[in-house]
Formats: sequence, structure tokens, C-alpha cells
Amino acid sequence: MSLIPFDDRDGWIWFDGKLVPWRDAKIHVLTHGLHYASCVFEGQRAYEGEVFKLEEHTDRLIRSGEILGFKIPYSAAEINQGCRDVLAKNGFRDAYMRPVAWRGSEMMAVAAQATKIHVAIATWQWPSYFDPAIKMKGIRLDVSRWRRPGPDMAPCESKAAGLYMICTLSKHEAEAKGYQDALMYDYRGLIAEATGANVFFVKDGKIHTPKPDCFLDGITRRTVMDLARLRQIEVIERHIKPEEMSGFTECFLSGTAAEVTPVGEVGPHKFTPGKISLTLMDDYAATVRRKKVAA
Ligand code: PMP
Repeated sequence: MSLIPFDDRDGWIWFDGKLVPWRDAKIHVLTHGLHYASCVFEGQRAYEGEVFKLEEHTDRLIRSGEILGFKIPYSAAEINQGCRDVLAKNGFRDAYMRPVAWRGSEMMAVAAQATKIHVAIATWQWPSYFDPAIKMKGIRLDVSRWRRPGPDMAPCESKAAGLYMICTLSKHEAEAKGYQDALMYDYRGLIAEATGANVFFVKDGKIHTPKPDCFLDGITRRTVMDLARLRQIEVIERHIKPEEMSGFTECFLSGTAAEVTPVGEVGPHKFTPGKISLTLMDDYAATVRRKKVAA
């Protein structure tokens, strides 16, 4: 893993409409987004020079801001262009990209209506979220003690920074126990998602995935469901109880960073990366590179 600090790298960052040298993309310590989590972001990947589903990511960023009560002061077209410009300026073709929007420093209290909204877009090379050697065997997930809040407990449709507090806690606790990630249940005790990816299970040739009614309906998740249907694999979105895990044979995660990652273990439950997980992993890898999926 690269240990070069993220604030001390070469390159360019799109910052409030301009490309600035990487190390100059700074904020003040009295920033509302830092103190009160009035911040939303995106995670997207470019493959062979093009950001996969860029428009959907930008629309989600704008919508995430609206859910937190702020309007991003750039149009979708301007943000899309910013993403393309920052990718080109850094000379990348395959890269991860992080647009982020936050409330600034004009007010420093819970109420923050007068704060200016800032936007930045950074990009860096991040080949695989999970160690590729472990990924093929299936990663191991802990079961988190933190639960995804319900829709009347937090703005769960927004990709809001504040929602990641319990994700970082879950992932740190999982890693301390030797797991790669954690599965989170929701406020009702149903299976929700991992700390930065959605989850799928397989049983009798059919895919089962939790209904995204209190967590992010990932762009990768929807892509994977479309790919499964292209292969005539039935996809069932429903509430899934933890005890059902003993009846599933395969499990995998989906997300922009994780792409499609097979899971070998969730707590006491074991899974074997099988035909459906591996086919969808390959189909996803082909789709993001605009290659036709071999049926
Ligand atoms: N859930 C969480 C908590 C995430 O952070 C992500 C990654 N953005 C996802 C799900 C998957 O979303 P996507 O496929 O849009 O990247």
C-alpha cells in the first residue's frame, strides 16, 4: 500500500473551478464541513481515459448536496468537464476520482445557511481496493456492531461524509480482528451492506440482494443487476435476515472502488466464490472498459 500522504503529492486538483497544484488545494481549520460533516462526495473510476457512468455520479453528487440542504454552485456539465480536465491534467487513463463538496467557513455553528459551498475533484491511481491475491479466494467480512440508520434517523440516500463515521469504526474493528471488511446490518437487524460497497448473495442459481431502503443504491450495484439479467440470472431485491446467510452458496460485494469482489466468509458463514460471482466480476471488468460482454 502506498504511504505517500495525500496532502503531499505531485499533480493537480480541480478546486472551485480551477486546476491548482496538488499541495495548494487547502481548506481552513474552521470549515463547517470538517466540524459538522456538512460534506458530500463521490467515488468514481476512469477506465482507459473515460469515467464510468460519470453523469450518474455527478447527478448523485448534486442530489447528495440537496439532501443536506445545499446547492452545489456548478452545473452538472461543469462538474463533468472538471472531472475530465483533472484526469487529463494528471495524465491518467485508469484512476480513481473523488469529487467532494462542503460548506465553508463563513459560519461556525450548527446553523450554517450563509456558508459558501466549495467543490474539489481529486484523482489518483488506486488499482484494487482489496488485495488481489485475497480477492480471488474471497475476502473475509466481520459483522459490525454498528447498524445503518433508518431513513428517519439520517439522510441515508445522500453520499454524505457523516454517514461514514460508523463505516470507519466498523472497518477499523474488522481489520484489527484480521478481516478485510465488515458487513453492516440495518436499524431493523436486516442485512444492509459493507462499509463501502453493496452486498449480493447466491442461492440455487438466483441472486438475492438487500432492498436499498436505508443505504446507498450503488451505481455498481445497479450495473451488476443489469449484467446478471443480461445473462438471464434472476435478481431478487428483498429484505434479507442474517440467519438466511447459512443457506447462500456465494456472496460478493459491488462498488466503484471494490468493483465486484467475491466474499469467502461473513462471520461464521462460509461461501465459495463460484460461477455467478466470477462471471459478474469479468462482465463488470469488460463493461467498464466498454468491451462487449461475452454471452
Ligand atoms: N455503499 C457505500 C457505503 C459506499 O461507500 C459505496 C461506494 N460509493 C457503495 C455502497 C457502492 O456505491 P457505488 O457502486 O455507486 O460506488
